[in-house]
Amino acid sequence: MTVFNSPSFDSHELVAFKEDARSGLRAIIAVHNTALGPALGGCRFYPYGSDEQALEDVLRLSRGMSYKSALAGLPLGGGKAVIIGDPASQKSRQLLLAMGEFIEGLNGQYITAEDSGTGVADMKVIGERTTYVSGVMDGSRFGGDPSPYTAQGVFCGIKAACAFRHKANSLKGVRVAIQGAGSVGRHLTALLVAAGAEVFIADINAANLALAQALGAKTVAVADVLSMDADVLAPCAMGAVIDEQTVGVIKAGIVAGAANNQLAQVIQGEQLRQRGILYAPDFVINAGGIIDVYYQRAEGSSEKSAAHVETIADTLQRIFRRAEHTGETTARVAELLAEERFLAPVKIAAA
Ligand code: NAD
Repeated sequence: MTVFNSPSFDSHELVAFKEDARSGLRAIIAVHNTALGPALGGCRFYPYGSDEQALEDVLRLSRGMSYKSALAGLPLGGGKAVIIGDPASQKSRQLLLAMGEFIEGLNGQYITAEDSGTGVADMKVIGERTTYVSGVMDGSRFGGDPSPYTAQGVFCGIKAACAFRHKANSLKGVRVAIQGAGSVGRHLTALLVAAGAEVFIADINAANLALAQALGAKTVAVADVLSMDADVLAPCAMGAVIDEQTVGVIKAGIVAGAANNQLAQVIQGEQLRQRGILYAPDFVINAGGIIDVYYQRAEGSSEKSAAHVETIADTLQRIFRRAEHTGETTARVAELLAEERFLAPVKIAAA
């Protein structure tokens, strides 16, 4: 496969490759679209099976960030970086510094942040070589971790979906099944419990499950969570959870959760629609993290960040209404709305 015939190339503005023999760094940075602003997206450190897989992943994720940031109303474009290797054995200070130099060399077209395989501490090392890094703000409420804001966005999205579907403004007594008691799942649990919802949660990790239980969630078996008789299903674990097999077992009338790429294929969006299930597109509802990362870099306050996250509810309401009107899937409507913004951009004011 070459860059140009990759299915995810989609007119990327820039794809840059870096090999640094001294530190062992092998990395790719992809910048999809900068019409609304510099491309901000996480730096993933993952032991890809091949260079082709790494390229495909970075292009797919970078393109996805153009859509996510445009829909979040941020003056940002879409980009992503991948470091090819096993973070457990190959991550070193020298390698992260080399990554910082790679990013710096792009003169701000790409701004990095943490992603799977990298964390706040790594961003601080990368930041020794480049200013184009976010998610490292010292002294912030959560020390750079965006997951509380992602959870806040999902919480707002669940409220918006319940208001649209049931004309209900309260979550009191609403039954929410959460798949995944990780950072986002647990923050979401706390918000839902405080709002009077009944939370059921499943996780393969017993320690995380116990932490969620302590916050007031009831536990449910991993095998049963998708088919739970709940009002809302919130996938907060991994991607492609709604596939040909699972799409038919969902009993909840609303699917609204944080996991990226929840639909295994585009067709599952249509299948959910035909089953009368309201789907909050993942790249809209889980934008709280990127919003926070943006405000950390723009040195905005956590209050500004939280207020911006609340706007996810309005965006979702708009998508739900338009999808109901046109008969398209909510995911398709969200894509069209994003393209209206970044293909014919109106200038969005910076914070
Ligand atoms: P995390 O790694 O902290 O938590 C994920 C949890 O899911 C873990 O506890 C894990 O044990 C559990 N899990 C894995 N497979 C499972 C399965 N089959 N059944 C049940 N539980 C399972 O991750 P996170 O930061 O909480 O993020 C959750 C999801 O949201 C991820 O898909 C992530 O990509 C997405 N997301 C996160 C953020 C953020 O700010 N953290 C932002 C946008 C999207």
